[in-house]
Amino acid sequence: MADTPAATPAASKTYKGSCHCGLVAFTATLSPPLDDPAQAAISCNCSICVRNAYLLAVCPSSSVEFSSGEDKMTEYKFGSGKFPHYFCPTCGTSLMCATGDMKAVNVRALEDVDLKSLTLKEMDGKSV
Ligand SMILES: [Zn+2]
Repeated sequence: MADTPAATPAASKTYKGSCHCGLVAFTATLSPPLDDPAQAAISCNCSICVRNAYLLAVCPSSSVEFSSGEDKMTEYKFGSGKFPHYFCPTCGTSLMCATGDMKAVNVRALEDVDLKSLTLKEMDGKSV
């Protein structure tokens, strides 16, 4: 009888993401994947995250690859301007924000994510 190999959790997973109308499409590779409790989705109480109902997953910018629409997104800067947000100008889907060489992708714009099973990390962005 052969031993059944132990299931090893995937180290990373590539998710398809898009806006509602499909103008913007991308993939985001998250390590570890969102079904690993170590990859908590950030639920932040700052003024923009609350309005957009963002659930954010942070990854290096190089982990996000656009198949369409990267130059079509509207950039929205406010406050210090250090954390520009990007949304689709046609359907208004909030897709991600960026800082330096990191991106925070809106998990709600990714496919095959069970939002109810996510580990959430509350962030007090309002006080920052
Ligand atoms: Zn769109």
